Amino acid sequence: MNTTDLDALAISRLASVGQRYTTCRRRIMHILTATSDPMTIPLILASAGFGGLAQSSVYRNLAVLERVGLVQQIPGHHGGHAYFTLGPAATTSTGDAFLRCTRCTTITSLALPAATLEAITAAAPGQVVTISIDQVCPTCATTEAAAS
Ligand SMILES: [Zn+2]
Repeated sequence: MNTTDLDALAISRLASVGQRYTTCRRRIMHILTATSDPMTIPLILASAGFGGLAQSSVYRNLAVLERVGLVQQIPGHHGGHAYFTLGPAATTSTGDAFLRCTRCTTITSLALPAATLEAITAAAPGQVVTISIDQVCPTCATTEAAAS
């Protein structure tokens, strides 16, 4: 989805609950659109254009965007940072898969073969499926192998 279509969608979804597509919300949506991996609030803040904006403000805006399906939150593994990515209303995919590292708590997107994703989403027709796999990430696995 290009940013023009995304902006139109966001304006419409937010208007349906009496909310506006503010500059902060637009920046968040554009940052999440520009990356395939989910992001923490500190990563979103570091991604430019948020000078002087409070973390709590970004958190509140993410909550509003999540409420209308534009953003989804992926809980961190064992108290790690929550990660945010585009929600079901803002993506054309029928499912997302994420690797949640059990060591460093980083969350990254997993590219599953289309046939695998289709088989899983067939079990939940009409829904956007989110799959979280809790495992040691490649970076931590490499570090661990080098240390032993
Ligand atoms: Zn890791």
